[in-house]
Amino acid sequence: MAVPNYEIIAIRYATVDRSAGENFLSTDHPNTPMPIDYFIWVIRGGDEQVVVDTGFKEAAAQTRKRHYLHCPVTALRKLGIDPHAVRDVIITHLHYDHAGNLDQFPGATIHLQEAEVAYATGKYMAHKPLRHAYDSEDIAAAVRIIHSGRVRFYDGDGEVLPGVTLHRIGGHTPGLQVVRVHTARGWVVLASDSSHFYNNLRQRNPFPVVHDVGAMLQGYDRLERLAEGPGHIIPGHDPAVVEIYPRLPGLEFEAVRLDLAPCAG
Ligand SMILES: [Zn+2]
Repeated sequence: MAVPNYEIIAIRYATVDRSAGENFLSTDHPNTPMPIDYFIWVIRGGDEQVVVDTGFKEAAAQTRKRHYLHCPVTALRKLGIDPHAVRDVIITHLHYDHAGNLDQFPGATIHLQEAEVAYATGKYMAHKPLRHAYDSEDIAAAVRIIHSGRVRFYDGDGEVLPGVTLHRIGGHTPGLQVVRVHTARGWVVLASDSSHFYNNLRQRNPFPVVHDVGAMLQGYDRLERLAEGPGHIIPGHDPAVVEIYPRLPGLEFEAVRLDLAPCAG
């Protein structure tokens, strides 16, 4: 049977100013402005709709001084997606900017790597630099969902639906997983934080929030093997994404179609 094609939507919900020195392990131009955007993603096709990551709440934006553009859950509603009706939520990893609204999806199965839960609740969280991007309330929410029986665990590769597969890459966090989606233009990979920006991947220059640099570097090769081509890898935080993909019209937030060919870039 043919693998189904899906539509993929990226929703940009927050942004913050940064400099290049904060986005690369090494750079000759550390003071160059290089803002970072925050996204969630939706995979749709037939009767299926899968949410990838849940974003953070406005309170987290205030605490961490991020510029909140739109509540990602409200954005889903405006796209006609009722969060209470969502059956599948993939969490690429449990960092605050990816797993902050789990309570908004009370009926969903949460798809998570076992290694991510172990990491976010284990010995490394004793170290501030490693726990900084986690919010203990989000982790507590995830643990409650585990105890309610709604988490499906993965150890490496797995399939959520035919044409929607998960692949643990590690690196940024040990349980970081990417999502490979079959579309009309071939296999697209939502890289999440295995590559924050296009240039982390292209220059083989890791983002400095990293648990295992070696795994992150190996992950770039893996991303390239998983995707149909270099134009089929979607970085997790690059503002260029909303510039180069076709935009959904008539919305008060930016959302783009990743299953369609880029307009430029
Ligand atoms: Zn992130």
